[in-house]
Amino acid sequence: MWNSPKVGILGGGQLGRMLVESANRLNIQCNVLDAENSPAKQISFHHGHVTGSFKEREAVRQLAKTCDVLTAEIEHVDTYALEEVASEVRMEPSWQAIRTIQNKFNQKEHLRKYGIPMADHRELVENTPEELAKVGEQLGYPMMLKSKTMAYDGRGNFRVNSKADIPEALEALKDRPLYAEKWAYFKMELAVMAIKTKDGVLSYPTVETVQEDSICKLVYAPARNVSDKINQEAQALARKAVSAFEGKGAFGVEMFLLEDNSLMLCEIASRIHNSGHWTIEGCALSQFDSHMRAILDLPVPAKSLEIRTPSIMLNIIGGATPDSHLKATEAALSIPNASIHLYSKGDAKPGRKMGHVTVTAATMHEAETMIQPLIDVVDEMRA
Ligand code: ATP
Ligand code: MG
Ligand code: MG
Repeated sequence: MWNSPKVGILGGGQLGRMLVESANRLNIQCNVLDAENSPAKQISFHHGHVTGSFKEREAVRQLAKTCDVLTAEIEHVDTYALEEVASEVRMEPSWQAIRTIQNKFNQKEHLRKYGIPMADHRELVENTPEELAKVGEQLGYPMMLKSKTMAYDGRGNFRVNSKADIPEALEALKDRPLYAEKWAYFKMELAVMAIKTKDGVLSYPTVETVQEDSICKLVYAPARNVSDKINQEAQALARKAVSAFEGKGAFGVEMFLLEDNSLMLCEIASRIHNSGHWTIEGCALSQFDSHMRAILDLPVPAKSLEIRTPSIMLNIIGGATPDSHLKATEAALSIPNASIHLYSKGDAKPGRKMGHVTVTAATMHEAETMIQPLIDVVDEMRA
């Protein structure tokens, strides 16, 4: 057996699980830090896992002792614990990159120095109605009030349509560090998975993401009705943005395509990302394969990131009842060319990502036709 280094993963949710699936095929042992029986641990039988949270210092120290390289499936980890163990174990990407990225305001301040286009934004210091009203005058309405930290699936965003919404917005995001963003009038949301290796930054083709209630619902790869020029520009922007951070591995770069065809960065995730799940079926190397190879300094041939077949990914999200995701899965079983991924998270909660389905076909039109009946089922089951 190939004597690979041991990889420690902070977080054992669906992203960790798909990372372990990839690692398993190369005989790479992954030691997962998360709760007992978390989705990633369920498919990895050995005694090297650590029970605890990626937010607990002691648990991170314990994980560091058991592996050669650390990585994370989530950006909301204790970076002070990672800083502490930095002399003992390699962390990819770096704790500095994760610390900057996990605070969306700091992330943007950092990227601004590299000339990355972004929506104009303002920091809030006091979180008072007066302060936000002043920001509203500067940015105009609507504007997006955002939590700087612990944001995911739009939980941390509040659309402020007018001055009258200010009290409700501050109440919804109370006790959180805040900033506000100018509204981005986008015609489409795009995303690029960038892979930072020891030799440079590579990128997968540009995809189109469709958010519903601020949660990613669909990903079209490649992005529909987007010129090759924009596809290339988006990839170049993603690679440039990711180059601003230290360390190796996959980064998800979310962008807005504006009416005038210019691009703006929405945010970066320092990890494997929902917009890259289609690569499991759509490319020779999935984002999980590439991440694992990048952090272990194994070859990542650029050609392996090219798209092999148009793909559509649909998230299966917890709906009105605890088993609605299973009903959606049942429907997916009969969809031609549908690859089903369930995350084994137990009962669904509304809005929780329970699995995903990727449909591939010779043309995007064919893939759209095949997946439509499943989209109809999922729409019916919405909470
Ligand atoms: P994720 O699950 O991607 O981490 P998040 O909670 O960090 O989400 P964002 O990615 O910042 O939140 O925003 C979620 C969605 O809200 C975006 O995909 C976009 O649809 C919308 N959005 C965010 N910022 C703006 C903006 N400035 N103007 C208009 N829409 C926005
Ligand atoms: Mg985010
Ligand atoms: Mg986002």
